[in-house]
Amino acid sequence: MDIQSKETDQGMDQTRCTRCGTCCEKGGPALHAEDLDLVMQKKIPAEDLYTIRRGETVHDNVSGQLMNTPQEIIKLKSAEDTSACIYYDAGQKACRIYDIRPLECRLMACWDTGPLEAAYETDRLERESLFGSLDWLMDLIRTHEEKCGYERIAALVEKRQFKDAGAGEDILEAVRYDTEMRRVVQEKAGMGEGMLDLIFGRPLGKTIPVQFGIKLVRNS
Ligand code: SF4
Repeated sequence: MDIQSKETDQGMDQTRCTRCGTCCEKGGPALHAEDLDLVMQKKIPAEDLYTIRRGETVHDNVSGQLMNTPQEIIKLKSAEDTSACIYYDAGQKACRIYDIRPLECRLMACWDTGPLEAAYETDRLERESLFGSLDWLMDLIRTHEEKCGYERIAALVEKRQFKDAGAGEDILEAVRYDTEMRRVVQEKAGMGEGMLDLIFGRPLGKTIPVQFGIKLVRNS
């Protein structure tokens, strides 16, 4: 779900959706408080969501720039090996959940981006909104954030650049902890693998090389 300016991407006279599919091909929407019931009532399964954690680099759809998000974002996943929303039917150029599509999708109008821009950063869902009643899980999420938060990783990367000998090992330790927490929640708490990127965000082993441009080397 992306916001494009009318002047650059659409004809000036457009006043309705032509089902070009462009917005859905660029990714799923972030969820807002208004979408909470869709998840709680399992109309949108939690396995179809993932978390972008605070400090993670994202493409900001309003500015069009890469930025480190100042707040947590819960989004619909993309279909495998594409950026398209998991619910986008490319063959039909249609939304598979059109009648219950989330707020951002309902507001999306590429010829008039004002309503979506107004709602874009308002009342976004966070993990607390979904898991707040599960104290044990929120405790794990908070501990995971303390050890694996992007602000801490960024500080360690900076220290490493200044030849702090322990910083590299601390980064690897955070990656190991992130991996171990996923295993523990899956094996001991019976959470499905599809839930892990919602509970802990995307694996650090995948995001650190992209966000910080450093190579992680596994010790044998
Ligand atoms: S939920 Fe539907 S309308 Fe929204 S981005 Fe996905 S495919 Fe498009």
